[in-house]
Amino acid sequence: MESRIACDSTSLGAAAGVIYCAGMRPVVAVDLGGTNIRAAYYPRGTPPAVRSSRRATGAGDGPTAVLERIHAAIEDLALSAPEAEAMIIGIGAPGPLDPATGVVHHAPNLPGWHEVPLGEMLSRRWGCPVKVENDANLAALGEWGHGSGRGAHHLILLTIGTGIGGGVIVDDRLVRGWRGLGGELGHLPLVADGPRCSCGQAGHLEAIASGTAIARAYRQVGGGPADGPAITTERIAAAARAGDPRAKAVFNDAADAIGRGLSGLVHVFNPERVLLGGGVVRAGEWFTGHVERALRESLMDATFGEGLQVLPAELGDEAALLGALTLVTSDA
Ligand SMILES: [Zn+2]
Repeated sequence: MESRIACDSTSLGAAAGVIYCAGMRPVVAVDLGGTNIRAAYYPRGTPPAVRSSRRATGAGDGPTAVLERIHAAIEDLALSAPEAEAMIIGIGAPGPLDPATGVVHHAPNLPGWHEVPLGEMLSRRWGCPVKVENDANLAALGEWGHGSGRGAHHLILLTIGTGIGGGVIVDDRLVRGWRGLGGELGHLPLVADGPRCSCGQAGHLEAIASGTAIARAYRQVGGGPADGPAITTERIAAAARAGDPRAKAVFNDAADAIGRGLSGLVHVFNPERVLLGGGVVRAGEWFTGHVERALRESLMDATFGEGLQVLPAELGDEAALLGALTLVTSDA
């Protein structure tokens, strides 16, 4: 058992007679999403969480209401006074943000969020350090710290869902770039004059291979009803498994694009592991296998592929929370 007494790093919580070492500070992790706000409490800075909470974001009510709900989500964790005094908060938010200042520049799924000083507002309310990071980057940190990226020093996570996001870790550090905007893997330009992307540009990976793009491509070849309920990638994947050639073709096209995009990233970053996450990956191994083949066939030199592992991400919905935990307990 580690000794609290031997710890000389901090006297946080000392007033209440509790001394916490830096490595075992209580951590509150928060995942702010367009639909839900989730929070989890890790008293010793390691999983599992001893308490967690979830509430609707109510994004349409605007930033002030959402911030109150974030505070309430933390309050739900029922921290004692010494715990709250010693804690550190890690929070993931959607959209471009500045991890150095904790300011969310804007968040597409959170109406009214423009230049919101999220880190400062949480820090002022709770009187503790707060670290803020983009949720897609946090998913990569989560997989690196606690998922299928464990033990790797160089990895790429690509999350293929409604959109495409991801993160890159090099030398055990998250690649953030100059202003913290790095890692927008869904916006790799692949096809000149290709389909319009959610960002407004044409031909980005997200516009070609996300779940949204797969469903659109399937409708365009006559799969699924032109009107009526939107067809899901789960249903298209089931149709592909049942032998529907149109469904297979749209998934194969997406897998080809993802593999080609990833090969470019592999050339730039030379990772030892590539992790594939997100709902579209649940289509099955035939899909991820196709992605891996397309990746390897697009490499400039086979050396890049030697020892390279392509694996499913394993944390699912927990990735951002565990990433927020990793954010505040590591130097990554
Ligand atoms: Zn884009």
